[in-house]
Amino acid sequence: MAIERTFSIIKPDATARNLTGAINAMIEQAGLRIIGQKRVRITRQQAETFYSVHRERPFFKELVEFMISGPVVVQVLEGDNAIAKYRDVMGATDPAKAAANTIRKVHAKSIGENSAHGSDAPDTAAKEIAQFFAGNEIVG
Ligand code: ATP
Ligand code: MG
Repeated sequence: MAIERTFSIIKPDATARNLTGAINAMIEQAGLRIIGQKRVRITRQQAETFYSVHRERPFFKELVEFMISGPVVVQVLEGDNAIAKYRDVMGATDPAKAAANTIRKVHAKSIGENSAHGSDAPDTAAKEIAQFFAGNEIVG
């Protein structure tokens, strides 16, 4: 297995309910290391750029409004097979379909307010990390 880095966001529904530590515990329990982390408010423009692949989807406006509705915690996670592993730790997009003991099954409120984001491939992981972190903010 290759050591990879992936990009994570603890979304506003989770920060609002004081779940940063609970979600970080699930991340670390899975063997992923949090090597970069900051709590920020993202701008509308950052949210639109970040989710631009979904620009034509009916939920895009709602998604952007949600992502700017409160603080988020942006993270860089590192570990064996980190991209796929973190997708497993998060569970399916819709919490009703997520496996037991995943972040979304345990914590998400709905398919939109689903507590966590994780990159879906190596190219998007690199791009997303670069959107939010300077090199000296990542300490592996
Ligand atoms: P993410 O990219 O946030 O990790 P994902 O890869 O599981 O999630 P995507 O299909 O990329 O799912 O959707 C991006 C985000 O858009 C979802 O996490 C969710 O917040 C929102 N979303 C997706 N589908 C819907 C929907 N049908 N209704 C409302 N919001 C949705
Ligand atoms: Mg996605």
